[in-house]
Amino acid sequence: PSVVKPKPIRRLDETVVNRIAAGEIILRPANALKELLENSLDAGTKTIQILVKDGGLKLLQIQDSGHGIRKDDLAIVCERFTTSKLRTFEDLSSIQTFGFRGEALASISHIAHITITSRTADSNCAFRACYADGKLIPAKPGANPDPKPCAGNVGTQITVEDLFFNVPFRRQALRNPNDEYNRILDVVSKYAVHNSGVGFSCRKQGSAAADLHTASNAAPVDIISQLYGSTIKGQLLKLICQDQNLGFSAKGYVTHANFSLKRFTFILFINNSLALKKAVEGVYTTMLPKGSHPFAYLALTINPENVDVNVHPTKREVHFLHEEDITAAVVEALQATLANCNESRTYQVQS
Ligand code: ADP
Ligand code: MG
Repeated sequence: PSVVKPKPIRRLDETVVNRIAAGEIILRPANALKELLENSLDAGTKTIQILVKDGGLKLLQIQDSGHGIRKDDLAIVCERFTTSKLRTFEDLSSIQTFGFRGEALASISHIAHITITSRTADSNCAFRACYADGKLIPAKPGANPDPKPCAGNVGTQITVEDLFFNVPFRRQALRNPNDEYNRILDVVSKYAVHNSGVGFSCRKQGSAAADLHTASNAAPVDIISQLYGSTIKGQLLKLICQDQNLGFSAKGYVTHANFSLKRFTFILFINNSLALKKAVEGVYTTMLPKGSHPFAYLALTINPENVDVNVHPTKREVHFLHEEDITAAVVEALQATLANCNESRTYQVQS
């Protein structure tokens, strides 16, 4: 009997490797948008305007008024592991910004066409550059790829076109642009709640009116009721909880136990913790009628040295030290908050 001979092992082409890696991080337009939003927020922007076509598959554009990108940095900004947010490995444990290892723009550039227009405060014009596979490319075939001066306000505009144009199976999986657009609105809503000092707007290309618009001076409760339903207004309780030994603090807004929604909305920053989400939902299940749900927004601040930042970006969940104890503390604070509210209601009825 003849033995099957092994085929020779060959190294995959670098662009194929990069494309596969990018496809693991960016699964859909909303993932790309999240990265772009975080970059704008890291740049200290006060406004974020988003423009979308075909659920972000044709066009995803984000304009901010942040500190911009220096002209000299435009050449490398889309390369892998280029970042202005991290210098040493030790910096990882004290990082305050969202992004930190310079992979987002690089990843997107392997699976889409990127154009960046950016101006810093000390420059009297903006510069525009186009990218593919991490590198500068000419805007037109044969032209010089160097960044070109152009008009523009201080801040950055990033245009992502034809996402997944070279990943056909991914494109085929994303058949419904409306579905993708809703996911985009979902991401923008969450960031709008969490960044009440920043004004957000999001609209489809070709439509004059924004589908989402928040003012940069609106209070979190107003943003929540604007984006998650006006019935929530007046139904939110402020939740505050902290523990120095566990090295964390949490604050946010939750609906009280006499109010309910059709589905559970859980907004959690720093990142998602499934354990915490389940625990918060669990507190309400004993209080709310079956099939009805609360709204909860929590901003969790954990001592940076307790957060495992070295997780792969595909992990949608974050891990941190004392996760169980912190979850228990948040649950306790939530129960106390909800109980207090019931007492004061009873009291109001009596008086
Ligand atoms: P990271 O955010 O992890 O540093 P990215 O690939 O997301 O990596 O971005 C690379 C770098 O590009 C950032 O460190 C930042 O210096 C710059 N950058 C990206 N987007 C913006 C923006 N909107 N405004 C200013 N700088 C930006
Ligand atoms: Mg980033």
